Amino acid sequence: MQYDVAIIGGGITGSALAYELMRYRLNVTLLEKATEVGFGTSKSNSGVIHAGHHAPPNTLKGQLEWEGNQLWDKLADELGFGFKRIGELTVALDASQIPVLEELERQGKERGVSGLEIWDQPRIRREEPNLNPNILAALYAPTTGVTNPYEVCFALVENAIRNGLVVQCDTTVSAITKEGGCITLHTGHGEVRSRFVINAAGLFADQIAEMAGVPAFRISPRRGEEYLLDKRLAGLIERVIFPCPTPASKGILVIPTCDGTIMVGPTADPVDDKRDVSTTFAGAAEIFAAVNRLVPGISERDCIAEFAGLRAVADTEDFIIGASPLKGFINVAGIQSPGLTAAPAIARKVVRILGDEGLDLIPNETYIPNAPKPIHFSGLPTDEQILLCQRDPRYSQIVCRCECVGEGEIVDAIRRGARTLDGVKLRTRAGMGRCQGGFCTWRVMQLLARELNLPMTTLTKHGDGSWLICDREDAPCSPGS
Ligand SMILES: Cc1cc2nc3c(=O)[nH]c(=O)nc-3n(C[C@H](O)[C@H](O)[C@H](O)COP(=O)(O)OP(=O)(O)OC[C@H]3O[C@@H](n4cnc5c(N)ncnc54)[C@H](O)[C@@H]3O)c2cc1C
Repeated sequence: MQYDVAIIGGGITGSALAYELMRYRLNVTLLEKATEVGFGTSKSNSGVIHAGHHAPPNTLKGQLEWEGNQLWDKLADELGFGFKRIGELTVALDASQIPVLEELERQGKERGVSGLEIWDQPRIRREEPNLNPNILAALYAPTTGVTNPYEVCFALVENAIRNGLVVQCDTTVSAITKEGGCITLHTGHGEVRSRFVINAAGLFADQIAEMAGVPAFRISPRRGEEYLLDKRLAGLIERVIFPCPTPASKGILVIPTCDGTIMVGPTADPVDDKRDVSTTFAGAAEIFAAVNRLVPGISERDCIAEFAGLRAVADTEDFIIGASPLKGFINVAGIQSPGLTAAPAIARKVVRILGDEGLDLIPNETYIPNAPKPIHFSGLPTDEQILLCQRDPRYSQIVCRCECVGEGEIVDAIRRGARTLDGVKLRTRAGMGRCQGGFCTWRVMQLLARELNLPMTTLTKHGDGSWLICDREDAPCSPGS
């Protein structure tokens, strides 16, 4: 089959674009080398939908941050993923930082960001009593939101599949050729031919551009470590807390997540290896020292999980979005922060570019804008939980005790596309609580094996050889055995 558009990379950028393209009568495929979409940088970030005033003006990042920010409410409403506009405070710890807040406020207002205001000490104490009392002033931005980025990727792609997208996971593009009006992508699973190709390969976008014969930029990885804290601290702060930024970084944040936990991070360290997602003692020490200056009640002892993500930093330090000298090949590269925030706007921009490059954009009259929303049992009121369990007793078979996730929710996640232990975890929170899967991992594996009709030995944590059982005979896979 020949496609109209092939997207390389199923991170937030590729997923948002796939979702947007399915509004038109087009044959679209998305190729992703990981076992599931969203498993690259897009699952390992702070999950903040930035207010709209942080990225420097006169950059693509700056334009698309605010445009993207404004698209999130409708998206979350249609697709049913978690999204809360909780607002943020950028704080000044000494008088020299106050002009920086004022400059940010001015920059944001110029761009049209609504609700920005500078708070004095009494207001800060009233609204966020657990912040460091020495904080002198803060810039309040109500437009900041938080979301679970992986949940968004799953929801975008699920909806796009309902509208006809063909997703090919575990499929690495290893060479690109062009014949006539068509670009051919060579993969381990054969060739994919398409009139237009979108390079949304994140950290590897420079290699993909090179394969296409248009090597115009280099991508360097910049690692950010993040630390997730126990739910015991829920409610300690209400808004995302930013330190006063420096020209190099937005700094280390304190983030009340969508799920009621608190996350702290990220660091910003250039690394050589595009696969180096290690966390380090130095990173933890840097983060907790920085966070302590903002919210003194937070301690390293509250950490229940840690991870790192790699920003795909282009040598221009800005997003690279546009057509290339190879007709039909479009780069969407260097999508570092605020790439999550900007993704819906990036997708719209790429659709416009495709139109300019000659793709016919005929609206799809049968387009389905929304998707059936996943049930999150622990978030339901008790009476609804009881009714649900009566209707489907699998919801009362609790698999993850920490997060109160039942068999019904896990089976639903697998039917929606989860193929790995992390796929189930990120869709349901099974394994994300205090015990970090100590109790439920084996039960989830049994359900994966049963639902996918696979031997236990083939199951992985996140694909890519991350086997859960090594050098063993097949284990029994009926739940409860
Ligand atoms: C620590 C950290 C914190 C951040 N916090 C925020 C934040 O709070 N808010 C915000 O707006 N942004 C944030 N960001 C930035 C944001 O995470 C990124 O901008 C965004 O995830 C980039 O998405 P992407 O789709 O471009 O890349 P990716 O998610 O990396 O997707 C690219 C995909 O391409 C696939 N791929 C690569 N090569 C091939 C190939 N040859 N064949 C097939 N597939 C291939 C990869 O497997 C991957 O899934 C943060 C980033 C980091 C690292």
